[in-house]
Amino acid sequence: MQHSVKPRNCEVLLNYDCNARCRFCYHPDSVLTRAQDRMSFKQAAEALYRGRLDGAWCAYLIGGEITLRPDLPKIIKAAKSIGYPYIQVMSNGLKLADFNYARKLADAGANIFRLSIHGHKPDLHDYLVGVPGSFKKILKAFENVLKLNAELSVNIALNRHNYKFLEEILKIVAGKFKIEDFNVIFPHYSGAMSEHAEEFKVSVSQAAPYARKSLEYLRSSKAAIEDTILINFSPCNLPEAAHLMSEWGPPGSGAKDDPFFHMDGQNDRVHEIKKRLCVKNKACAGCIYDSKCFGFEKKYAELFGSREFKPVKKRVPAFPLKPSHRRLKRALEILKKDV
Ligand code: SF4
Repeated sequence: MQHSVKPRNCEVLLNYDCNARCRFCYHPDSVLTRAQDRMSFKQAAEALYRGRLDGAWCAYLIGGEITLRPDLPKIIKAAKSIGYPYIQVMSNGLKLADFNYARKLADAGANIFRLSIHGHKPDLHDYLVGVPGSFKKILKAFENVLKLNAELSVNIALNRHNYKFLEEILKIVAGKFKIEDFNVIFPHYSGAMSEHAEEFKVSVSQAAPYARKSLEYLRSSKAAIEDTILINFSPCNLPEAAHLMSEWGPPGSGAKDDPFFHMDGQNDRVHEIKKRLCVKNKACAGCIYDSKCFGFEKKYAELFGSREFKPVKKRVPAFPLKPSHRRLKRALEILKKDV
C-alpha cells in the first residue's frame, strides 16, 4: 500500500452521547444524552475501510465519549484488521481510570489515547467537565495509558476559566508526564460553547499573552513536542508560532486533506469543514499567509468582531521548540514492514 509521508488520519465520529457535561463543548447540550443516535458498527467499519483506501494510516475514533459504546473494542479490532498501524481513541478519560478497561482497549489494538485535561487543579477541571472527581480520574487514566506502553496525547480546550492557567496545565502535561503530543485548542464557538458563551468566551487578544507565556515555559523546560500544538488559531494571532499551528496551510502545500466521517456515515474532509466555518477580512488579501490561511471562524466574528485579525506583512523568526518526531519515526518503522 502507498503511504503519504505526512501522517494522515481518518476521523470517524462514532457517537454524541457523553458521560461528562462540558458546557464549552462544540457539540450542543441537547445531544449529550442521545445514545440512540450512534453510528452503527457497519457504518463505522465501512468508514474506516474507505479511509484506509484513501491513504489514512491512523484510525482516529472520536465522539461524544466513545468509551460509552459497548462495541468500541470490536470497532478497534475492525480498524486493526483493515490495516491501520495506528488506532487513536479520543476520550475524556473517565472510564480509562479503570486499568482493566484501558487494557481491554489496548488489547483490542488501540495504541494512541488522546485524553482531555482542562484544569491544573481538581476544582477547576471538575467544574469544567461537570463531574466531581474527574481530575483524579484523568491523572489515573494518564498513568494507565503509560503503564500499557501506549502513546498518550492530550487535548486542552481553552475557555474563560482556564486560559490564564495554560502554563500550569502544561506543567502537568509536558512537565510531569513528559507528553510530547498535545493540542491547545482555541474555542470553537458552536454547540454548547456558543450556548454558554457569556460564561466561557475568551478572545484571541486575551488568550494570546498566556499562550506566549506557555511557549516560553516549553522552551525553558526543554520540553520536546511531537508536531503542531495550537489548534484553531490563525497565524496573525501569534506569528512567531505559525509553524506550531495546525488546520492551516493546505492550499498549494501539496498536503492531501484528511477524510472525516460524520455520524450518519457521510464522508467529508477536515479542511472542507474548516472552510465552511471560516471567513476572512478584506485586509487578509495583504497578508503573507493569505493563500494558506482559512481565516477565522464566523461565530467568533459574531461575538468579538474581526478587528484582531491583522495582516502579517513579513515573516518573523519561528519560536524555537525542541522537536521530537518520536511517533513519526516509530510509525515509519511500522510502515517499512507494511510495504
Ligand atoms: S490571512 Fe487574515 S486571518 Fe489569516 S493570518 Fe492573515 S490576517 Fe490573519
